Amino acid sequence: MDLYEYQGKELFRRFGIPVGEGRLATTPDEALAAALELGGRVVVKAQVLAGGRGKAGGIKLADNAEQAASYAAEILGMKIRTHVVRRLWIERACEIAREYYLSLTLDRGAKKPLFMFTTEGGVEIEEVAARSPEALVRVHVDPLIGFQPNQGRRLLFGAGIEDAQETQRIVALIERLYAAFVGCDATLCEINPLVVATDGEVLALDAKVSVDDNGLFRQEDIAAMRDPEAYPPEERAAREKGVTYVKLDGEVGILGNGAGLVMSTLDVIALAGGRPANFCDLGGGGVAAGVVDALEVISADPQVRAIFFNVFGGITRCDEVARGILQALEQTEISQPIVVRFDGTNAEEGRRMLNEAGLANLSTEPTMLEAAASAVALAKRAS
Ligand code: GDP
Ligand code: MN
Repeated sequence: MDLYEYQGKELFRRFGIPVGEGRLATTPDEALAAALELGGRVVVKAQVLAGGRGKAGGIKLADNAEQAASYAAEILGMKIRTHVVRRLWIERACEIAREYYLSLTLDRGAKKPLFMFTTEGGVEIEEVAARSPEALVRVHVDPLIGFQPNQGRRLLFGAGIEDAQETQRIVALIERLYAAFVGCDATLCEINPLVVATDGEVLALDAKVSVDDNGLFRQEDIAAMRDPEAYPPEERAAREKGVTYVKLDGEVGILGNGAGLVMSTLDVIALAGGRPANFCDLGGGGVAAGVVDALEVISADPQVRAIFFNVFGGITRCDEVARGILQALEQTEISQPIVVRFDGTNAEEGRRMLNEAGLANLSTEPTMLEAAASAVALAKRAS
């Protein structure tokens, strides 16, 4: 689960990481009140679950409260990538001397949290990594030992920071960031920029925090931070129904049972010249109710022009899946054509049930490749 900047900063604050003082606003009037309360210059910041807000015009420095209100009116409703701005964070402006980059992620390869730091902050980190990889200092933390202050110093010395007081302040912040990462079950805590203000204070000017969904059961207050409006309706429905759903950008909706089969189905769609719009994994024991839910989620995505239903029957019986498909088509209006490929346990029985139903938008194919070709052709015809 990704958090908004202001939510990430709220967590940072709890762990003693210095952040600027600010207020949330959803209207220009609220922005005006917030700016008056904060006093002086403020930054008006679009809150969306996407980076690059600065470049997109979603971050503006206002000299006074009136200006903050007019920037708020400009930024609210603005579209940044695919996200509509509905919330603003109004923060007391900071006099920046230097902008650094600091992040802590889970390095799955090393099975350890990984700190990355560079003095080239403020810009996109991918840019720094491509242009001057040596400027990006990496230090792993052994999760069983925990964070050691010398690891913080290694990050800073590696990046060429020499000032003793600055080092001390940032190392203290790094240590707290590690505590926040572990304490929140985070998979990412990124501060870009981490700034040194003209008065020498160090603070997190931005916050990008992602929390492990599997940790949310014990992070109730973080789970409650989820903004349902930030997700398209089919993603919301998937979450409510407990369906594994991933949104992509093509035109063929994909349903399969088991992660491996779903991954190869994506490949086969590509091989057939199409692009997947999304995919659902029914998992191992896909019974009728699960099939109904998954079909509803997949078909609710407006980009889907055709649906490829790919099942390899093992414990999951194809006749059971067929029953689910027919039930879904009875319960809900699904306008897209559905191509089904069954193999394995009771595949013939499943195919016979579907064919006997004689539905216009439902067809079966004997192999994965033929089914993919058919789904891609149907999707192209419909778009
Ligand atoms: P992003 O573009 O989505 O990463 O948003 P950031 O929160 O990182 O802000 C982008 C840039 O806006 C920062 O790198 C700063 O240069 C600038 N900025 C943000 N807050 C302040 C502030 O309080 N004072 C000043 N002078 N600049 C700021
Ligand atoms: Mn940033």
